[in-house]
Amino acid sequence: MKKPNDVFISSVNSDVFKLAVKSAFNHIIITDVDGTILYANSAVERITGYNQEETIGNNPRLWGQQMPLEFYQDLWKTIKKDKRPFSGEIINKRKNGEIYIAQAVISPVTNDQKDLIGFIGTEEDITKAKLADKMKTEFISITAHQLKTPLTAMRWYLDLLEEQIQKKSLTEALESISFLKSSNASLVEMVNELLNVTRLESGRVSISPKLSELNKIIESCIKQQTPIAKQKNIRLKTNLDPKNPKLRLDEFITKEVINNLLSNAIKYTPENKKVMISTSSTSKFYSISVEDEGIGIPKLEQKKIFKKYYRSINAKSQEGTGLGLYFTKLAVDAFGGKITFTSEESNGSTFTVLIPKSGMKEKKGEISLS
Ligand code: ADP
Repeated sequence: MKKPNDVFISSVNSDVFKLAVKSAFNHIIITDVDGTILYANSAVERITGYNQEETIGNNPRLWGQQMPLEFYQDLWKTIKKDKRPFSGEIINKRKNGEIYIAQAVISPVTNDQKDLIGFIGTEEDITKAKLADKMKTEFISITAHQLKTPLTAMRWYLDLLEEQIQKKSLTEALESISFLKSSNASLVEMVNELLNVTRLESGRVSISPKLSELNKIIESCIKQQTPIAKQKNIRLKTNLDPKNPKLRLDEFITKEVINNLLSNAIKYTPENKKVMISTSSTSKFYSISVEDEGIGIPKLEQKKIFKKYYRSINAKSQEGTGLGLYFTKLAVDAFGGKITFTSEESNGSTFTVLIPKSGMKEKKGEISLS
């Protein structure tokens, strides 16, 4: 009696083989011993952009030639002279000029007498995975660098504190403790920012709107930011529409967004000026605007302002991670809102968040930002 597996194998005739190779998701080509392409499956066109007509009779150089000459010499030696398979990452170029990275395996095809009759090459487009890997490495290196500054400051103040305690200089010791506290606070803030960004990026964050009063949320953010504004003698003004009704909001996310905008406004505004938070509404949205009289954002840099880690040249004298606005935009997009801004260098900025009147979009997820 035939086992199910035998039935399957005996039904895999050459037509099935051809169809299977044609439909494979990975790029597969068969060439003669000189590398002239005799067969290319459908994925070749999807990945390289070259169609059958352009590919058959041609050479993989069509999308290759992006690696150093020695690389190809080594590849040819491995597959043709040594008759061994070659496996490695290759940089290629699509027909539209885009560079992509492929994980390639090229194997010699031999007959029963072990004569070389051609090659079979398979490639997997790993560009996205490589990019994600690069971003992860970049994230770790930037994060480590940013955490180092407050950590080094803390180490320095701890040494100082030790000396001050030995000398019994209580007033100075208390001053060191206060510096330690503030370095610690900025560390905690940075770590929170990093955690929130990674959580939101994972797409697994839940958004749990419930009926809330927008004005109350704004007022609680003002309360939170007042001590920081006071240090620079910045007046925090409000112009909230008293008729703002209750709407469905995720309170934690709303607070994070408003606090980010308010703390930026305070940070990038010189002493003795004013920051104003106001609300208004259009037919579909409630809007919250944070207006400052600060350093503004240079025109040429404005389109990059929501990019991860981006900090404009004129902002570098202030501490920051370049993650606040990136986080804010991710959060606003996640709840179905919009964020815009207007700004003029040396003449202030206004950031506006639009929340749908229908309320925030509910989203189920395994993690909550709070
Ligand atoms: P951070 O403040 O930590 O640098 P953000 O992501 O919050 O990071 O902001 C990114 C950049 O946008 C800032 O570095 C600054 O260049 C600019 N920016 C944000 N808010 C303001 C503002 N209110 N006024 C001027 N520049 C701002």
